[in-house]
Amino acid sequence: MPLDQAFTYSLPATLRHRVQPGCRITVPFGSRKLTGVVLRVHDQPPDVPARDVMKLLDEEPVLEPRMIALGEWIAAYYCAPLGEVLRGMTPLSGEIRKGKVYTLTDSGRDAARQLLLGAADDDPAVGILRLLESRPMSASYLTKKFATAARVLKSLEKRGFLEVEDVEAERDPLRASSARLRIEMERYPDSGKFLKNERELLAYLELHPGSHNLAELELQVVKASEAARSLARKGVLTIRTELSHGAAGPIRAPHSLNPHQQQAFECIRDGVTSGLFKTFLLQGVTGSGKTEVYMRAIEETLAVGRGALLLVPEIALTPAVAGQFFDRFGDRVAILHSAFNDAERAEQWRRIRTGAAGVVIGTRSGVFAPVRNLGLILVDEEHDQSYKQQETPRYHGRDVAIVRAQAEGACVVLGSATPSLESRYNAERGKYQLLELPERIEKRPMPEVEIVDMRHEFLETRKQSTFSRKLVDAIHGRLEVGEQTMLLMNRRGFSSFIACRACGERIECVNCSVTLTYHRRDRRMLCHYCNYAERVPSACPKCASEYIQFIGTGSERVEEELHREFPTARVARLDRDTVTGKRQFETILQQFRERSFDMLVGTQMIAKGHDIPNVTLVGIVNADIGLGLPDFRAAERTFQLLTQAAGRAGRGELPGIVLLQTINPDHYAVRYASEQNYAGFYGKEIQFRRAMRYPPFSAMANLVVRAAKQEDALRMSGELGLLLNPAPENVRVLGPAEAAVPRLKDEFRYQLLIKSASRKRLNELLNELRRFVIDRKWQSTALMIDVDPITLL
Ligand code: ADP
Ligand code: ZN
Ligand code: ZN
Repeated sequence: MPLDQAFTYSLPATLRHRVQPGCRITVPFGSRKLTGVVLRVHDQPPDVPARDVMKLLDEEPVLEPRMIALGEWIAAYYCAPLGEVLRGMTPLSGEIRKGKVYTLTDSGRDAARQLLLGAADDDPAVGILRLLESRPMSASYLTKKFATAARVLKSLEKRGFLEVEDVEAERDPLRASSARLRIEMERYPDSGKFLKNERELLAYLELHPGSHNLAELELQVVKASEAARSLARKGVLTIRTELSHGAAGPIRAPHSLNPHQQQAFECIRDGVTSGLFKTFLLQGVTGSGKTEVYMRAIEETLAVGRGALLLVPEIALTPAVAGQFFDRFGDRVAILHSAFNDAERAEQWRRIRTGAAGVVIGTRSGVFAPVRNLGLILVDEEHDQSYKQQETPRYHGRDVAIVRAQAEGACVVLGSATPSLESRYNAERGKYQLLELPERIEKRPMPEVEIVDMRHEFLETRKQSTFSRKLVDAIHGRLEVGEQTMLLMNRRGFSSFIACRACGERIECVNCSVTLTYHRRDRRMLCHYCNYAERVPSACPKCASEYIQFIGTGSERVEEELHREFPTARVARLDRDTVTGKRQFETILQQFRERSFDMLVGTQMIAKGHDIPNVTLVGIVNADIGLGLPDFRAAERTFQLLTQAAGRAGRGELPGIVLLQTINPDHYAVRYASEQNYAGFYGKEIQFRRAMRYPPFSAMANLVVRAAKQEDALRMSGELGLLLNPAPENVRVLGPAEAAVPRLKDEFRYQLLIKSASRKRLNELLNELRRFVIDRKWQSTALMIDVDPITLL
């Protein structure tokens, strides 16, 4: 259970001098043991008797005071329990193993001898030196023996009596310097028994001949280093350390910047060297070379002795992306990825803390990386939804990045071809400095987008087909010349739902009020919200009619129809059904890049950031998915998705075209996306936001009240509604009303939306509601509060 408030504990004598703010401790709580983070160490006696701390988990704080302050800001701003916020900010338990080993230096030996002659036995310094006379010892062993070891060791080290080594680096070179190890296949084993890990690594290496950087491999093959080690022992591959390139000079020659890139770079450079907080919005069309600007800005940051943090959307952190940065910055790069296991994350975390890695690339939670002397945070694709955490604490990584940078005197660069309305609005108001890259690299043309009106297509062909004749022709054209096609179908599964032709019944999930999606490969219907699965019935569950109908199209069906329409073409699919691990994602993408496939069909996964020069045709199979959703961001999201998808075409030397199939050709999101006209879209959308008092013109929170029984959910949301009635000045409350998905995972849901002209007022209101919920002793999960919601569904 996440706890909301701070508690006071007493420190047993052995811990008194070792516990610092930011360390994790184990404490008794009721009849249980909990892990907590120390916020403050003081000697004011509390009013109630305090219990003793049981155990200290970290000898050194895992959270610096600044990060604790950031956590407190998050807890307050997003109305989330501080305990839960801090837990999300620290690496997983047991991660920071202090792998330090102490050895006596020569002067230490001398000192030991002299000291030992007449010193008191209970002096810990003497005890430690005496122990170390026999052999080197680890810090953890010494601290177990001597309560004050940490402090004493520090002072002995300062006096030159001790040498410290990192035991992990000693014992396990593979881990410590994973970024610099290359592995190479010696021979392909034709037979033999291999463990699952080993087989997976072998399969990958077979598909990707050549030498590999181990850190990159770890991004896609589970337990790559373990497997690599055991395979090396079996003589199947070799692992060698790469020569260190040192801190000087780039490893891969950078592109020389074009004038727009140069101008943007200079502004960022001036910001970074000034050492003052500042936020830039780098708005560059797709293919304008934003990454190169990032890399130059990072170089500049390192040059002034500060660290840089690059945040990327979850799906975009591929080895191809990481590889570019390894090539440029070598072993100064650390990667933080949710696909890493505890030990790998701990290792990266350690390299960041010690300052060994001054360039950190991470997804959302990477914003908490303990980068030394942080000078620059880059948020790539800042509009991406994956920056918003969809569970408590519901923080936005981009916004936390800005708050953190402000506290550390760092600069922020938000990069995107399609900035969020909020960011662009902040740039218009001068809060951020706008930097523009209006052209593609080498003046390559933007792709030409053509709208295909599927209503006309139907009238002319009298067929409800997935592909228009135009799209079919265009694909044939690519196949003939060996160019590649990407097809966006932003819904997975085979058909979107199953209905009865006789009575109209749609088959719904038993836990949620949503229809089940048919997945043909598994011959099952699946709930995309809770994963409930069911076999397809042979008759309607309501009227027993046998006329069951499959309605709507998903990526699985698109793939199948491509096979039927183009029997000899090689088709790959990328969606959450084909990608169950990191590895498959990159494998499919890499094979497509290497032209093992002619076509790639997929969900929004294929729209993000990929740079594949041979793609000259992008087909958007159905631009309308998502347009009708009851969500004020529906248009923005559609515009961004379509623009980004279109931007995959013609990135290389060959020009590209985009065919956009829709039945809403006049919708402004579709129209402006087809023109790749961000300014036009922004102008229209900002009017709507202003008129409706949606963000950025209000501070907004979405409240969802949940309960197993409908009457409970209804009653509770009614009580909250009363509390908000009448609404305070300049606050608007919508609801309570049934949520867009009224039943989810077996809970009934009611929704309230609060829009407030003042952020402070909103925050006060939310705190009132939380107090009310606590006073009434509602379940802690009964009220979900989402501040700055990214979706209302
Ligand atoms: P964006 O992220 O803006 O869509 P990228 O950063 O992926 O664009 O850059 C597109 C391509 O242009 C990449 O292959 C990159 O290596 C190349 N590139 C970037 N800057 C230059 C430059 N100044 N000259 C030539 N090529 C460049
Ligand atoms: Zn029926
Ligand atoms: Zn469900």
